Parts: sequence; C-alpha cells; structure tokens
Amino acid sequence: MWVDINSVVKLEYELWVEGHKFEGTDGHPKTILMGHAPELPRGLEAALLGKAPGSYQEMVLPEPYDPALCIQVMASELPDPPRLGRGYSGEGPQGELLLYRVVAIEGERVMLDANPPLAGKTLEYRFTILSVRPAEPGELEHGHVHGEGGVHH
Ligand SMILES: [Zn+2]
Repeated sequence: MWVDINSVVKLEYELWVEGHKFEGTDGHPKTILMGHAPELPRGLEAALLGKAPGSYQEMVLPEPYDPALCIQVMASELPDPPRLGRGYSGEGPQGELLLYRVVAIEGERVMLDANPPLAGKTLEYRFTILSVRPAEPGELEHGHVHGEGGVHH
C-alpha cells in the first residue's frame, strides 16, 4: 500500500549536508504516524505521501538563513556571562520566543544567532520506506503509534 495521511510508516533516513553525512541520522528506523511526527525534519512527512514500501528517495531542502535573526548585543545586557555556543532565550522580530546562540564574542560585543545551526546550507535527506500500514483507530485517536516503534499501553 501507499503512504496516505492515515498511514503508520516505518522509515530510515540520513541527512547529508554539502556532501557529508550528518552524524546521528542513520541506523535506527523510525515508526511514525502521518500528521503526528514533529520529530521528522520539516517537509519530510509530505515527501512520504504516495510512496510505497521499499522506495528510496532523496529530498533536497534548502534551509534558509534569516539575517534578521542574527543580532549584536552588549555582554552586560545578557543575564549570564556569554561564552561561545551558550544559548539565551529571547524575542524575535515578531515577538516570538527564540533560542539565540552565541556565535562570536568581541570584547563587550556579543553576536547572537537564532537561526537553526544548519541554516544557509543545503540539506539532503535520503530516506527509505521500510513498511506502511493503515493506522488503527486507537492510534488516530491518541495521535501516536502503538506497538513496535511506538507507545506500549
Ligand atoms: Zn496511545
């Protein structure tokens, strides 16, 4: 059967960034309920629709870099002393909650960036659909997979 919006899909995927495999995205197959898989990369669920088990696909997804999310502040404005990689929560241009990371420190000036770490790069997902089955009514009701690869209760 093909993947539709009420399918439970077992898949595995790798993330490749500019010709290099990104650590931690291979090996373990994931079992997801379509429409309830926020842990999957954005756009990947939609790419599964209409595919059959055994199909191998590549999806190229540019991860946009938003310059407005990169700001400069004074170290004294931060709640803790900054160091590279440290995160601070803050408000974005539209008042949304964002996590800013320290990307550079120049004396008192600190550069913070709330873009995802891979922003500005081209992400390539290589995925294989291992199996597809219709979701059970209880799974649709709970919004998660039951049994293998899912919740046991
Ligand atoms: Zn459940």
